[in-house]
Amino acid sequence: PRIIFSGIQPTGVPHLGNYLGALRAWVKLQDEGLDDDKRFFSIVDLHAITVPQDPHTLLRRKNETYASLLAIGLDPNKSLIFMQSANPAHSELMWLLSCHASMGYLGRMTQWKSKAGVADDADPLESAPNKPALKLGLFSYPVLQAADVLLYNATHVPVGEDQAQHLEFTRELAQSFNHIYARPDADPTEVEAFRGFNIPRTILSPAKRVMSLQDPTKKMSKSDPDERSRILITDTREQIQAKIKAALTDSTPGISYDRELRPGVSNLLDIMYYMDQSKYESPMAIARDFTNVSMRALKEGVATAVADHLEPIRERYNEQIARSQEDVDTERWNSGRIVGAQSDRNIQRVKQAMGLRPVG
Ligand code: ATP
Ligand code: MG
Repeated sequence: PRIIFSGIQPTGVPHLGNYLGALRAWVKLQDEGLDDDKRFFSIVDLHAITVPQDPHTLLRRKNETYASLLAIGLDPNKSLIFMQSANPAHSELMWLLSCHASMGYLGRMTQWKSKAGVADDADPLESAPNKPALKLGLFSYPVLQAADVLLYNATHVPVGEDQAQHLEFTRELAQSFNHIYARPDADPTEVEAFRGFNIPRTILSPAKRVMSLQDPTKKMSKSDPDERSRILITDTREQIQAKIKAALTDSTPGISYDRELRPGVSNLLDIMYYMDQSKYESPMAIARDFTNVSMRALKEGVATAVADHLEPIRERYNEQIARSQEDVDTERWNSGRIVGAQSDRNIQRVKQAMGLRPVG
């Protein structure tokens, strides 16, 4: 059976990149999955605090993220939707894995470099501009991510392309940990034996990298200070129209698809294509249809496609966010309890394998 794990940070309502790159695949895995699949979808609040957070805002955003996940079609009766911090085993396994995680490998990860403002090709441990201020949590973010995935023995992890590097790190960490501690041939009667973590596979959706509307060489991101760089899945038709109208394109006449030379236009064509894949054959086919059309007309077409797609999501979001806190808390408490029970066995096995817990 497949064990599916993925996470999203509670840093606000998800944007189109989150949705097309990851969240839509979660819903698909839920609705078209196999009966014995297990699905874990986590709101990773412990990852969110690797950058400064205001506690009140964080609490509110956790609620907004939860409402967003239900709005796009995740169902707490079919998938485990839970807060990462509700299960302390994430932090515990992270420590155990940390003792096997290589600083050199972590230093090469590009995500923390961009969040810490370190150049991609620089030796980060040497040349961070503000090295004393650099936080350990931001640096070790991928170890916590590895713990999230390995804790439930996940086999499949649906994420956007920016997370592919962290998952490669997870696989290598799991392999070296297994190499030291796993006893795959342990006697079947030894229910407590650690037989090794599953080596998780990355699942990338076709829209694996949606670009910023204001700088199409960067990925669309929740932490970009410019709100016009992203479309939120709860944006109104007017907001969507305004943001797409202001999107950075180029002054080449006509419409064509070329991700290298015309990243802005191509990003819009990609977005339009992935909003309704039954309508066109490919982003290139849309470009052909729009060849002699003005940029303004193309943008209007893109905005309509996005607004039509997001409208029902926004309506469901408004229903979700209006639910009573008590109701939501009960639901979340329930899934937190279930995931805790699911991971308990695994963590006990790991601790026993490491000599932290007596056998039997
Ligand atoms: P931040 O910039 O603060 O890291 P984020 O926008 O990357 O925020 P996350 O919560 O870190 O959001 O990511 C949630 C999921 O969305 C991950 O699977 C990630 O790979 C995916 N994702 C994020 N941005 C994009 C994007 N622009 N295109 C495709 N997938 C994306
Ligand atoms: Mg991210």
